[in-house]
Amino acid sequence: MPTIKRILVTGGAGFLGSHLCERLVEDGHDVICLDNFFTSQKTNVTHLLSRPNFELVRHDVTQAIWLEVDEIYNLACPAAPGHYQYNPIKTIKTSVMGAINVLGMAKRCRAKVLQASTSEVYGDPEVHPQPESYRGSVNPLGPRACYDEGKRAAETLFMDYHRMNRVNIRIVRIFNTYGPRMHPFDGRVVSNFIRQALAGQDITIFGDGQQTRSFCYRDDLIEGMMRMMNGPDDFIGPVNLGNPHEFTIRQLAELVIELTGSKVKLVRRPLPPDDPTRRQPDITLARQRLNWQPTIELRAGLEATIDWFRKIDVSQYRPPTPNYD
Ligand code: NAD
Ligand code: UDP
Repeated sequence: MPTIKRILVTGGAGFLGSHLCERLVEDGHDVICLDNFFTSQKTNVTHLLSRPNFELVRHDVTQAIWLEVDEIYNLACPAAPGHYQYNPIKTIKTSVMGAINVLGMAKRCRAKVLQASTSEVYGDPEVHPQPESYRGSVNPLGPRACYDEGKRAAETLFMDYHRMNRVNIRIVRIFNTYGPRMHPFDGRVVSNFIRQALAGQDITIFGDGQQTRSFCYRDDLIEGMMRMMNGPDDFIGPVNLGNPHEFTIRQLAELVIELTGSKVKLVRRPLPPDDPTRRQPDITLARQRLNWQPTIELRAGLEATIDWFRKIDVSQYRPPTPNYD
């Protein structure tokens, strides 16, 4: 009989958080989903509200909160460039103050706490593919810094609470992940291309489209994240989680056009500043220590995502809530 744990998921109503909550509820755990709904919809978790082992709390992680739990997955943070640049001060506060608040809670409750970090800690990388030992090339002054540096500072806080206070931590560095329940107006490349193709609008390629990303389907990612949380205490990370299969943005656009059967064209738009040119995870460590690797290739994952986008009513999705803290 598996142990039932009290588990807090911050950012639990978001794209990844809502899937994680689903998995944990199915496994029988007592799940608290905490979110301020800045970039998500309550509808992502309304189907869980009738479950006796699921609770939804509206709260902002920049403020302290008193909860008794055994494990914390810290996902609260806007993740799409358009969302995190909407209010950059709030973004960095969310990463840093959110980390301090969950680490304080973990210290008090002796809970285990996992940080959802990001491949953005590598910035625009000079090393390819990126192993965890690479220290990155981040512009601390640019428009992406509120997110990149916020996540880097959060990793530092996790390591310091671990060394100083023996908090049981895990750090995962997530590479571009996609799937059903992405916010259709988050501006990320997968959601933009699918939404545009289905609406018959031309697909917007930023720059020449030769920049690369490696896309991981959300189910693979959630599996890796849970393996990391449940893995041995001597393996705290950071560990890369992502699909090492690398594509140019132009290839992604062509695949979306093929799979949607759309007749739209590709149109060029300026490349945003500091946009990383290449990105591909080295997942040797995850393979060795977690026995994890992605199983869902881009074509299959995109088919599932396109099916979901066909079913939703995009007029029901709102842009981020103004928030000037
Ligand atoms: P998302 O925007 O769908 O989810 C983030 C959630 O956090 C949302 O529900 C949002 O409302 C909530 N949130 C934001 N600020 C908050 C605050 N101050 N207090 C409480 N809740 C707050 O994005 P996602 O893709 O599900 O990302 C989840 C986590 O994974 C993020 O921490 C992100 O940085 C990390 N990550 C995601 C990816 C990816 O490709 N999806 C890649 C790297 C890292
Ligand atoms: N991109 C694009 N068209 C779009 C949205 C994004 O060409 O409509 C590009 C963007 O410039 C970047 C890549 O796709 O090179 C991935 O962007 P995304 O915002 O999804 O995530 P990032 O990895 O940059 O955080």
